[in-house]
Amino acid sequence: MSILFLNGFTCNARIPRSWECGTLEMLVETLEGLVLVDTGLGTEDYLHDSGILRLFKVITRMPLDPQQAVVRQITGMGYKPEDVRHIVLTHMHFDHCGGLADFPWAMVHVYRGEYEAFKGRRRQFSDLAYVSRHIAHDPQWVFYEDSGEKWYNFSAIQLPFDPEMWLIPLAGHTRGLCGVAIKTNDGWLFQASDAAALFNTEAPDWLIKAALGPHQPRIAQFAADHPEVRVVTGHEWLDWFEVNKNA
Ligand SMILES: [Zn+2]
Repeated sequence: MSILFLNGFTCNARIPRSWECGTLEMLVETLEGLVLVDTGLGTEDYLHDSGILRLFKVITRMPLDPQQAVVRQITGMGYKPEDVRHIVLTHMHFDHCGGLADFPWAMVHVYRGEYEAFKGRRRQFSDLAYVSRHIAHDPQWVFYEDSGEKWYNFSAIQLPFDPEMWLIPLAGHTRGLCGVAIKTNDGWLFQASDAAALFNTEAPDWLIKAALGPHQPRIAQFAADHPEVRVVTGHEWLDWFEVNKNA
């Protein structure tokens, strides 16, 4: 069983310029085939800007290299695109689900509350990062609702894969954002997505809370209390991706 870390979208801050980030996608070998956790931008995003991407071009610095599309990265590794049987979404912002249409045969697993936020009326600022055309190919959805189960002390919903995998609802950044926990050979990997930015020690607490919701303090404490759980987040520094190729 292996878990590969991929950067599916580089997006660097203008201020401070030292904040150079990628978007974390994970390619997980399971008994059910390859499972991709988040997609990054898709090939279509490089051909036709969405409105939100045009806005990000102004407020951030991004190389927009089409070779970063996950489908290109995994074919470069020798996989066939069709090998990706399942996609799990932490949330449906453009930088996390833009590549869905590159895998039209895949079953797409998502928390129902996130899908409803995407499909519903745009109600809050962060809804601007939903791009309707990212699901225009009408994927095969598998929706999840709260089940009353727990992973550690987090509410959790088990996904149908081996190794064991859980969705962890952490609403705030979006109304249905979930982290994803995956059993590894020697513990757990917990991808907290955009509910935390643990490795950005420069961002003030108010900014983290405004952008990512209320969960970061709890996730940071959890990481400190559980050394057997490796915690990663939805966006990591570019040099993190250089040294962390897999879990
Ligand atoms: Zn997001």
